[in-house]
Amino acid sequence: MENNTESNQNTERKDPKKEMPKKRLPAGQTPPPAGRNMFIWLMIFTFLVLWYIFSLNDGNGFFGGSPEIDYSHFREELKENNIRQVHVQGERITGELIQPRQLRISRQDTTFYNDFSTFMPSFGDDQLLAILEESGVRLSAEPESQNYWWYIIIFSFPLLLFLIIGFIFYRRLQAQGRGMMNIGQSQARLQRPENNKTKFADVAGHEGAKTELKEIIEFLKDPSHFQELGAKLPKGILLVGPPGTGKTLFARAVAGEAGLPFFTITGSDFMEMFVGVGAKRVREMFKKAKEMSPSIIFVDEIDSIGRSRGAGLGGGHDEREQTLNQLLSELDGFEPTENVVVMAATNRPDILDKALLRPGRFDRQITIDLPSQDTRVAILKIHARNKPLDEDVDFDKIARATPGFSGADIENLLNEASLLAGRVKRKSISMNDIEKARDKVIMGLEREGMNIDHDEKKLIAYHEAGHALVATVLPNADPVHKVTIIPRGRAMGVTQQLPQKEKYLYNKEYLLDRLAVIMGGRAAEELIFDTSTSGAQNDLQQVSKMARKMVMDWGMSEKFGHMSFGTNQEEVFLGRDMTKQKEFSDETAREIDEEVQKISREAYARAMTSLTKHRNVLDRIAKLLLEKEEISGEVVTSLLNHKEN
Ligand code: ADP
Ligand code: ZN
Ligand code: MG
Repeated sequence: MENNTESNQNTERKDPKKEMPKKRLPAGQTPPPAGRNMFIWLMIFTFLVLWYIFSLNDGNGFFGGSPEIDYSHFREELKENNIRQVHVQGERITGELIQPRQLRISRQDTTFYNDFSTFMPSFGDDQLLAILEESGVRLSAEPESQNYWWYIIIFSFPLLLFLIIGFIFYRRLQAQGRGMMNIGQSQARLQRPENNKTKFADVAGHEGAKTELKEIIEFLKDPSHFQELGAKLPKGILLVGPPGTGKTLFARAVAGEAGLPFFTITGSDFMEMFVGVGAKRVREMFKKAKEMSPSIIFVDEIDSIGRSRGAGLGGGHDEREQTLNQLLSELDGFEPTENVVVMAATNRPDILDKALLRPGRFDRQITIDLPSQDTRVAILKIHARNKPLDEDVDFDKIARATPGFSGADIENLLNEASLLAGRVKRKSISMNDIEKARDKVIMGLEREGMNIDHDEKKLIAYHEAGHALVATVLPNADPVHKVTIIPRGRAMGVTQQLPQKEKYLYNKEYLLDRLAVIMGGRAAEELIFDTSTSGAQNDLQQVSKMARKMVMDWGMSEKFGHMSFGTNQEEVFLGRDMTKQKEFSDETAREIDEEVQKISREAYARAMTSLTKHRNVLDRIAKLLLEKEEISGEVVTSLLNHKEN
């Protein structure tokens, strides 16, 4: 499962055939410039026009309906006195036959023709006129220039195309020129205080950030008071946090609260086809902001311009570097007394250029974290304001069941729920809708039409029952929320556990139980069917990863004790730390592997012990799962307790 955060553990069987596509674009990726689209349309247009022109040439000659024949054929017809009249236009000769002739269109089909056309050879035909007169053919002629307009259109077409392209570029340049002159119009958007309705009340949580920014707003509005105390206004404030946690929303709320001119621009807006435009925009934006001070500038997704210079594969990006340099020099250039504050947001602080974070630039960092359980309740309340909800909707319960959800995820959850309710024409959203939406968001869509035969289904049921039973038996494991063998997303079945309350630290006992729970699926397969399946792939990966962390990072192995090897850097970003440093010998590496193996083996053994001891409960869970496809954690618990009575 993709979003398997430590607090939201789902143990699942993976269907290796289906991989879920990544939803988000990598940060900092810029959309293709609009010019490219235009170019493609132009190409299509050109193609169509050319196709039309050439389609006129349907084998009957380019310009008319009569079939073209060889000149010698024409002379033969003339010799046979089969020509009624001839019309000459330059080198082009059209005419009418007396006797129709057969014309072969394809292998089977033929047709007859009366009219024909042909071309006089360029070296001329001295005898033609004499022969025509002799055989009494009616002759007419006209100057050859008549048809030239066709030639003109065809040959001037490429020229026309160039003109059109040139015109479009010219327009774009002009538009940019205007954009640079007048920031309010296109790129950086100036928000007038009176138009902004977003307030801090629309943002749940982030209390620390709110306090801090309130202070800064007050400073901006009444600098003298603070300046008397010798305080200096911070120049740059960087909002850092995972996607969807409300950074952009928060910045908008700052604008709404401050009641000051507020310039927003998104990092990718700077990226244009023309080198130097981004830098100019930065310059203009700062100039404008200073003129209107006190004011706030907000650069959203700053990582798309602010990533480390000279790093990254594929060489540097001129435009980006220029824009970044300009931004840096603007930040340095203005004085704290100028009363402009620059805010920026990013979800990739790790790739930001160090120079941006130096004192006097973005030296204040505010972390916007994933919401806690309480904050999730608050976010739910905010987004449920304009949605009709049933009485039974319990925000606390939803918040408890959505660990690791961002604000945007919660908004999406409620939206999915209202879509579900709308689909069956209900007037309000029920708790059941929200539960269903949650399953959809976490586990993906139910896969319909999968033909799983009974034996396989039984295997899946026992696998999941294994996870669920071990989780219910072991004292430190998170309680089971739901077990399902309905295939969804990549998973053939899922056992969902939810923590009683959110955890920020994990102790060894918890981790060991967790490993045993994950091993429970594989253990059940072995116990019941005396076999193992590929469905446990994801389980085994999780076990190895966690066991290795326990040994190397968390100092939880017997052999090494409280020692960290600290090389287990999970995120290696392009262009930085390409080479991992290994600070221990091969001998130690081998010992680490042994410890990891030992932990996994013990986890498996513990799972197996629990399952063997409660074998008949395992059977009952699996049977019920086969029957109902989905059962709740409470049902599993009651099955276990009944047996114990
Ligand atoms: P970010 O910029 O951090 O990626 P956004 O500000 O774009 O995230 O958040 C997306 C949406 O999620 C917001 O428009 C808002 O509806 C919702 N949201 C996120 N966090 C919160 C929050 N703390 N309170 C209320 N709504 C939130
Ligand atoms: Zn499993
Ligand atoms: Mg954002």
